[in-house]
Amino acid sequence: MREFHNKFIKENFGEQIPVRRRFMNIVCIGGFFFSLFATVANLISGTGTVGLIVCIICTIFIFCAFPLVKRIDDLNLFAYIILIPLNLIVFPLLFFTLGGIDSGMPLYFVVGVVFTIILIENFKASCLMVFCELIWYIIVIFYDKSHPEISDKFCPSNSFDVYLDTCLDFLVVTLCIGILVKILATNLEKQQAKTDRLLAQMEELAVKDPLTGAYNRRFLIKYLESGMATSKETGKSVSIVMFDIDKFKRINDDYGHLVGDEVIKGLATILMNSCRDYDIVSRYGGEEFVLVLPGASEEIAIQRAESIRSIFSQTSCSDLIDRPVTISGGVAEITSIMRSPEDFISAADNNLYLAKETGRNKIVATNYNK
Ligand code: GH3
Ligand code: MG
Ligand code: MG
Repeated sequence: MREFHNKFIKENFGEQIPVRRRFMNIVCIGGFFFSLFATVANLISGTGTVGLIVCIICTIFIFCAFPLVKRIDDLNLFAYIILIPLNLIVFPLLFFTLGGIDSGMPLYFVVGVVFTIILIENFKASCLMVFCELIWYIIVIFYDKSHPEISDKFCPSNSFDVYLDTCLDFLVVTLCIGILVKILATNLEKQQAKTDRLLAQMEELAVKDPLTGAYNRRFLIKYLESGMATSKETGKSVSIVMFDIDKFKRINDDYGHLVGDEVIKGLATILMNSCRDYDIVSRYGGEEFVLVLPGASEEIAIQRAESIRSIFSQTSCSDLIDRPVTISGGVAEITSIMRSPEDFISAADNNLYLAKETGRNKIVATNYNK
């Protein structure tokens, strides 16, 4: 029983069910119980055959409509199929048979209008239908006023029953609208949280390299721009190191590109693990990385680069590689003649070139150990 209950809830109101479809299911299930309730009320109070027949037809109609919800893909079509007879025929008939204006029935007109607004997707169609419903309900209410004998026949005979009837209707209608608003609000919150998560992921994807998780070149340029501006304002230094894996083409040729990728990822991991506050690692090219060290002098940058070079040369990035893999690095510290991040990177690149030229597996800086 519990399993059936859970399955029923999941199939009809689960998160994977679109909101409008969930509303539709509520209309059907709520409508069914409401009609059943009206039928029983009619039977008990014995208000008359017409009322009873209307209620029974209403119950059967909604009971049959519910399984249809799952089959009809076009929710708009389904909304018309269920809302037109329910709002324009069943509710007004119930209005007369359950006591007219003296009962709580006019409250159900409110529910009908709310459902119309929610379930009919097309704005113009929804407005037109609401307009028709309102006019129709006004006609129905005024007809009841001019022919009170119709509903009086069915109206509860003592005033306590009238109050009880109105209270019950008020309760049902409030619950209906309350549940609707709750579903809407919960759904909105969930959507918002999902959108925020997706947005954060997108922002991350926009600035990061998918293979290594390091920042991409676009982010590097922006970060350097702001780093250079801050350095100008505060007088604090910034240094960068450009690393490149030595003879990397040969690793690709000898062991394949997948092993090559492992080596690139291995270097990225070592670089990222070496980062301190405000340091960032960017994948500049295929197997070239730039480490940005805000606040670091050239001397400190050389020490950091040497340490990374040494760690990398002792690390095996793949079990398949049976020879040491090394990196070279070019260090550059910010100077007043550097106008743009490109100037800054170019200075590090020149030193990297020198490191390659003079034997590889080394770090070269402008003022030291050239
Ligand atoms: P050098 O010591 O002078 O740097 O020699 P090298 O062979 O490393 O030369 P270079 O830096 O020009 O080689 C870069 C190679 O990196 C060429 C390219 O096939 C390879 N490469 C670029 N991107 C990737 C990648 O994402 N994965 C793999 N496996 N290889 C890449
Ligand atoms: Mg290389
Ligand atoms: Mg290269």
